[in-house]
Amino acid sequence: MTDCIFCKIVAGEIPAAAVYDDDQVLAFRDIQPEAPVHIIIVPKRHIATLNDLTPADAELIGRMHLAARQVALDLGVADSGYRTLINCNRDAGQYVFHVHMHLLAGRNLGWPPG
Ligand code: AMP
Ligand code: ZN
Repeated sequence: MTDCIFCKIVAGEIPAAAVYDDDQVLAFRDIQPEAPVHIIIVPKRHIATLNDLTPADAELIGRMHLAARQVALDLGVADSGYRTLINCNRDAGQYVFHVHMHLLAGRNLGWPPG
């Protein structure tokens, strides 16, 4: 998608600090971190929101979680703990319409969120 900021990051047209990269998934540091560790995990293929996933995307969404697990290990927060979340549409505050998982860690994240 030409106008999508995360597609541009995947294409290398906008710089990002990548922490994980495979054939289907890319993870990079959030530009405005809300925690000491704040990573964005995206499918390389454009999908606008969680609502737009189909059963054919089951492996892809699983791979995003496996990427989160690997990032947490690599950044040393697997044991201390981390949170993964996907915002969908207005009430969740989705701002970039290319489905993405946040990985937050490095402080007590509190519960419930929001
Ligand atoms: P959301 O509110 O779930 O749509 O989150 C979008 C996230 O993308 C925010 O946390 C932004 O700080 C982050 N973000 C936006 N543009 C960039 C960028 N160019 N590089 C890294 N993270 C970005
Ligand atoms: Zn996109």
